[in-house]
Amino acid sequence: MLKNSNFDNEFKLYYQPQYRTSDNKLVGMEALLRWIHPEEGFISPADFIPIAEETGIIFSLGEWVINQAMCQAKAWNQKYNMDLQVGINISPLQIENSDFVNRIRQKIHDEDIKPEWIDIEITEGVAMSSQVSMEEIFSGLANIGISISIDDFGTGYSSLSYIKRFDIDRLKIAKELIDNIAEDKNTLLIVKAIIMMARGMGLKTIAEGVEDSNQLEILKVLECDEIQGYIFGRPVPPEIFELEHIEKTIHSSN
Ligand code: C2E
Ligand code: CA
Repeated sequence: MLKNSNFDNEFKLYYQPQYRTSDNKLVGMEALLRWIHPEEGFISPADFIPIAEETGIIFSLGEWVINQAMCQAKAWNQKYNMDLQVGINISPLQIENSDFVNRIRQKIHDEDIKPEWIDIEITEGVAMSSQVSMEEIFSGLANIGISISIDDFGTGYSSLSYIKRFDIDRLKIAKELIDNIAEDKNTLLIVKAIIMMARGMGLKTIAEGVEDSNQLEILKVLECDEIQGYIFGRPVPPEIFELEHIEKTIHSSN
């Protein structure tokens, strides 16, 4: 089905807001891919991304995602005179393709996009495997001026040394940790340690999957920089994101 799919007709990027904790200001959004198959209906990215990776379709699909997300960020930032940052999930395979950094650089140049509008999300495991080439890719991306976030941080085998070695901007604290932060003291201590460590290294932190006000209050006390989760908004189509998040931000600051 993936091989026969028409990306423009069947796929759509949804956007989930990211808010700054200190002043509740909208700072960006994560682009999350949705497949609405003409016969099968909604298919979860958790199901089709692994298949896209196995079949190599991830290269063209990932490219489509990057183009869409960059154009959307540009359209909103120009229309509303903002600097929202769009988080784009990147598959390890896409990065390992040696030309990745050059292609991103070219796109940013061709489309007249500010590099600070773009954040690349890479999972912790990826950042740790094949470290030598990754170091080059990370510094290549950092040289362009785009931001790099480590996705699902704190779930895998965290090696603190690579965080220091690589040009990383932000840690995305995994939902699995946030889920237990209000009930489990050990989890709370882990999240606290992650935030303190990140701050010490000059990295930002964003908590993922924040659903209720208990979790939010704790994260405020711990001075986690940003929040993403149902408490502020689910992933929604761009039309709705614009209405519910961007326009609201504009009106509340006027
Ligand atoms: P992820 O990068 O960890 O994305 C976060 C997932 O958590 C999303 O699921 C999002 O809808 C969900 N989420 C966010 N806040 C909450 C919350 O408060 N409560 C709950 N229960 N869930 C929350 P989604 O959209 O189903 O995406 C699943 C995974 O698929 C993503 O996990 C990412 O790894 C992958 N994915 C999505 N889009 C892309 C893409 O364009 N490219 C690649 N390579 N992977 C993608
Ligand atoms: Ca992500």
